[in-house]
This record gives sequence, C-alpha cells and structure tokens, in this order.
Amino acid sequence: MSQSERLFELAKKRIPGGVNSPVRAFNGVGGSPLFIKQANGPYLIDADDQAYIDYVGSWGPMVLGHNHPAIKEAVLAAVENGLSFGAPTEIELQMAEKVSELVPSMEQVRMVSSGTEATMSAIRLARGYTQRDKIIKFEGCYHGHADSLLVKAGSGALTLGQPNSPGVPADFAQHTLTATFNDLTSVEALFEAYPEQVACIIVEPVAGNMNCIPPQADFLPGLRALCDKYQAVLIFDEVMTGFRVALGGAQAYYNITPDLTTLGKIIGGGMPVGAFGGKTEIMQYIAPTGPVYQAGTLSGNPVAMSAGLAALEQLSVPDLHQALTEKTAYLATGLKQAADDAGIALSVNYVGGMFGFFFSEEANISTYAQVAQCDIERFKRFYHLMLEQGVYLAPSAYEAGFLSTAHSQQDLDKTIAAAAHCFKQL
Ligand code: PMP
Repeated sequence: MSQSERLFELAKKRIPGGVNSPVRAFNGVGGSPLFIKQANGPYLIDADDQAYIDYVGSWGPMVLGHNHPAIKEAVLAAVENGLSFGAPTEIELQMAEKVSELVPSMEQVRMVSSGTEATMSAIRLARGYTQRDKIIKFEGCYHGHADSLLVKAGSGALTLGQPNSPGVPADFAQHTLTATFNDLTSVEALFEAYPEQVACIIVEPVAGNMNCIPPQADFLPGLRALCDKYQAVLIFDEVMTGFRVALGGAQAYYNITPDLTTLGKIIGGGMPVGAFGGKTEIMQYIAPTGPVYQAGTLSGNPVAMSAGLAALEQLSVPDLHQALTEKTAYLATGLKQAADDAGIALSVNYVGGMFGFFFSEEANISTYAQVAQCDIERFKRFYHLMLEQGVYLAPSAYEAGFLSTAHSQQDLDKTIAAAAHCFKQL
C-alpha cells in the first residue's frame, strides 16, 4: 500500500470522503487520490516521493508555478508584522488599486476569502441594486456553492452526478433560471418569460467547469446587449479566467465590459482570497455606504493580500500572457496530433492559460450537451495511464486544465510523449 493510499484510508475516517473539497477524492476517475507534500514550479511531489508534471495548479491559482520565490518572500515579510488586524491596512488599498488598473471595469473592489463568497456577494448586490429576485445562470457553469447557485452547476456537482444538491430549498432555487451556454435564444426567452424580474446574468466568460468551453463570437456581446435591453446586471465570474486568459481577464480578451466581476484563485497567489467589484454606482450599494450587507472577519487579510499582490505584480509583465497562450496552444495541438496518430478521436479547446480535451468524434465542442456525450470511461483510463507516466491532470472530465509560466518546453514535450504512449494503449 502506498503512503497516499494509507493516508486516504485514515482520512476517510475523520474527514467526509477523506477530503475537504469533493473532486479531490478522485470520484471522477476512480482510485485513490495522491496526497501531496510539496510542490515547486510545475511539479508536485506526493507522499511517496513521486514527482508529477502538474496541470491542475491548485485548480487555478498557480499560474506562476508552485512556491514562486516572490510570493513566498512577500508572505514571509507580511507574517513578520502580524497575521490579522481586523482593521483597514494600506495593502488592501494597494490591492484595490492594482485590480482596478488591471481590470478597469472594476472601479471599486471588495475583498473576500473565496470565489464562492465573491459570487454570492455579487449576486446579492445585483439583487439589492435592481430590486429584482431572479438570476440567470448557465447549465454546466459553476460559481461556487452558495445555495441559489447550486442549480445545474458544473465542476464537482457534475462530477458527482448531483446537479441539484439536496439541502437547497426549492423556494431558493426557484429564483435561479437556467439557460444554455452559447445559446442567446435561451437567454432571451427567459427575459421575455420574466419581464422586469431578472436581476442579473452570471456567466463564466470561458466556461471552465464543464471542461473548457470558449464563448462563440456572438455570445458575450449578446449577453451584454440583453442586459442593457432588460436593465439587468451583467456579472462575469472571472474566478478562473481572471489574470489567466489575459492579464485583464476574459473581459479584456473578448473586449466586453461587464457591470460586476468576481475574482478568486490567482488573486490570492495560493492564499484564500476572492474579490468582487465593478461600477462605482453599483458597488456603493453595499455596506457601509449602502443597504446590501456583506462582511468578513478575515477579508483583506494582510498575509493573503501580500501573496496576491505579489502574484499580480509578477504577472504584470509585457507579453507574459502571450507566451502562456503559446505554451497552451503547443500542448493542446501536440495532444491532438498524438491522438490522431494513435487513431483516437479527440477534440481540444484552449484560451490563454486554460485548456480542455474531449474524447469525442465531434471537431468543435461548444455546448454542455456535447460535453455530456463524451466518452467518460475512456477519459478515466487515460487519466490513470497518464498518472503512471508522471502527469497529473484534473481528476475529472468536467474540469479545465491549467498551464503555468513555470512549465518548460521540456515539460510540454514530455507530456505530449506520455500522452502519445497512453493513447496507443486505449
Ligand atoms: N467561480 C468559478 C468560475 C470557479 O471556477 C470557482 C471554483 N472553481 C468558484 C467560482 C468558487 O470558488 P471557491 O472554490 O474559491 O469558492
């Protein structure tokens, strides 16, 4: 029995499923998860001292690679001054200034401690601001685990086959309307069915919780136009895409300005951080300036802010995202070529530093329905074969993969060679 297996058996006795977040338990691929004891650059080291090239990156935050020296230094320096004050600090101001500089639609910013808190708060704000109750989300998009957002959600909710979680009262869920990603007609139909009742649309501008689905050309501009027409708030959930698909996020990449934006993952540099922000006029509706309540004991925590700010500074380098995009393209096309050579039907998607691959005969995967049709059993076999080759992919067919600036050409070539080997065994 490996150390990871031993630890997993023990953990299951004290922690539900042995994990503190469901997808980590490998339910999506079967088998026992790796317990990780260390990570550096693009590599993970597990409890059995095996090294893996990592394409999960802690589910997104590690866009600069693990244990980046500048982030580590910033954290250690911050720790010297105390861990939390529960009072305003200058670094929160610096963080807000930096976020507004990189994402100009975020004129005002409020920090929180997770992506879930960011989306939950942004939706409460949109509801308070518009004085409307209904929200529109998309099937297969995940926005954290707040009650009203666990309706037809992606990520672990899909992996575990529980699109609608027990424990969410039907009365809460009734205000969540669900549309089809990349289908504007489905959105317009909801606005028409519920005139003047829709507070907001929340969308992952590149869907990353049903594998990786980029928006079709008309989709995001169409959502902007519908929100303008029906006076609803457009929320881009950039928890995953922020600072990853471009320095200014998906809104910069696709040149669409949302009213509110939610951030998480990279903004904390590996520490628990989220943020939401947008138009000053809307942001003024939250407490203490406005009536919509929102708060947090550890929000804007100085150690977390130091890590996040260091990450954003490291990312603010000209052409960094261009180079990251090129690496992602190299990996995705390499995987596709290797699959073709082995006679395996594979489709790939990528934007900036995120990618997805699908065991499917279809050339373009752009809808949730197509993702649901992919060969999951083949994915599971491929997953474990790749793990044996030292490549750590997201342990679910419904998650995007992540590149980091630390992945070298050699890492990518090794990954493609490993995949070529594994495709032949499928
Ligand atoms: N929104 C999106 C788009 C996400 O991908 C996630 C998490 N994967 C969340 C929100 C929730 O963030 P957290 O897990 O930090 O609560």
